[in-house]
Amino acid sequence: MKVRTRFAPSPTGFIHLGNIRSALYPWAFARSQGGTFILRIEDTDTERSSQEAVDVILEGMQWLGLSHDEGPFYQMQRMDRYREVLEEMKARGQVYPCYMSVEALDALRERQMANKEKPRYDGTWRPEPGKTLPAVPEGVQPVWRFRNPLDGVVAWDDKVKGRIEIANAELDDLVIARPDGTPTYNFCVVVDDIDMQITHVIRGDDHVNNTPRQINIFRALGYEPPVFAHLPTVLNADGEKMSKRRGAKPVTWYRDEGFLPDAMVNYLARLGWSHGDDEIFSREQFLQWFDLDHLGRSAAQFDEAKLRWVNGQHLKAMADENLAVIVERLLKQRGITPDRRLAAICGLFKDRCDTTLALADWVQRFYADITPNPDEVAKHIHEGVRPAISMLAKMLEGCPWTKEDIAEAVKETLRATGLKMPQLAMPVRVLVLGTAQTPSLDAVLALSLRETVLARLQSA
Ligand code: GLU
Repeated sequence: MKVRTRFAPSPTGFIHLGNIRSALYPWAFARSQGGTFILRIEDTDTERSSQEAVDVILEGMQWLGLSHDEGPFYQMQRMDRYREVLEEMKARGQVYPCYMSVEALDALRERQMANKEKPRYDGTWRPEPGKTLPAVPEGVQPVWRFRNPLDGVVAWDDKVKGRIEIANAELDDLVIARPDGTPTYNFCVVVDDIDMQITHVIRGDDHVNNTPRQINIFRALGYEPPVFAHLPTVLNADGEKMSKRRGAKPVTWYRDEGFLPDAMVNYLARLGWSHGDDEIFSREQFLQWFDLDHLGRSAAQFDEAKLRWVNGQHLKAMADENLAVIVERLLKQRGITPDRRLAAICGLFKDRCDTTLALADWVQRFYADITPNPDEVAKHIHEGVRPAISMLAKMLEGCPWTKEDIAEAVKETLRATGLKMPQLAMPVRVLVLGTAQTPSLDAVLALSLRETVLARLQSA
């Protein structure tokens, strides 16, 4: 059996990290099994769906490298297909028209709640042998209800939750088409999953309640349901379900803040799946390791500090040349064109940065004007060090521009002035890079341009 998975987002809000995890796992499962990954946009809620939300889905997936093999399919473009299947079900007597008014349904629900019963449709319009149905009211378009089996249980072995069994007696007859003939959510999902030959449905566990109903529709249509894996919720830092309303950011925000796609994949992968104690891994390792047997059962909590740490680890592990490509793009957006020093500068600073934006901020100091931190200027630059700074500047005018020669010039200045290394190195760093918190002075100076260093030292 060739694996076919899908991601089926509803474009009703900007997709956040909790949502995109539901794309990562089916993508990874398809990739790791040599299968096919399908993107389906569930846009039938026309009031709440928007093109902007679709764009964030497409951009976010592209950025993270979660490429799909088929689609995107849009449910709104498949309406004819759903109507066709509905007609087949009518012909087979698997659905029936229900004329119960909204008021009558409300009254029924109130009666049931007053009797402490679970609210459910009572089957008034369900045809049965020997049963007389009420008279069809005039001028009323019916909804179409699915004849759910009355007896037995619906059961499945969920890859995350284990075996789940629901008695059919618990399920009422679901409306699968509205009076104007538009199909409802659960029906579209099943028709799509059948037509798209989905073998594994991997999705959020907010759909567990829909699953028994969907399974019954699968069977009514003559198909065995796929394998289901219902992923536990992703919680935000406050322990609530992650949502846009509660401040979750769109996936693309992380792109714009300088997070690396591979680090995001790594972090999201661990948000509900594990491979022993491995915290940091590459995309390739993840695909080699990923399976549905190690999905976590409990809710995962988003932790931005950890995401930043993971990103920093990936950043540090990247080759300087590859980082330079990213940083060059960022600098160009700021109107700065870097030169051949770029990769080496990235290499010198990468282990103190947790995003590429932070790295670009450092690199920028080598290519654009800086404003030294005033507190640090006040602290480190004073009359006691000015003669040493001038002397160093003088020596750097003529010395060969290598780390070793620069280190030698610094040492000589210290010998001549009797200062200790930090007394000289701190002010020089503040002058040249704007802050004393930098890597070693000789390395920083060697990667700076001589003219820039001299000009900045002379400004003391
Ligand atoms: N459109 C649904 C959602 O965004 C997913 C449906 C499914 O995966 O079956 O929650």
